[in-house]
Amino acid sequence: MQKERENPVTGVRQIEKLTFEVDSRSEAIPRRVNLCDYDFNGSCDCEHFRFNCGPKLSSGWHPAENLRCWHIKRCRRWVLERYLPKIAELLQDHPVDYNAA
Ligand SMILES: [Zn+2]
Repeated sequence: MQKERENPVTGVRQIEKLTFEVDSRSEAIPRRVNLCDYDFNGSCDCEHFRFNCGPKLSSGWHPAENLRCWHIKRCRRWVLERYLPKIAELLQDHPVDYNAA
């Protein structure tokens, strides 16, 4: 079996499929991130998300880069590093119409 390559995005631990613990930059307690929430915008239990991003998303704002805290962005990078090879395989098996909207 092929050895899994090391993920270059450090401080991120996968708890469930798309739920993560992310080391905080300022506190000892890690943050909890779910990347599926808010139509894949992601959610986090940090203050920035709870008081700035979350309320906007709850009131109907669409997912956006500026509605993601540092922890969510870090998890999204981790996921890309981890799953990009699998996505490449998937695209090989299921060709995509690149011109579709
Ligand atoms: Zn956060």
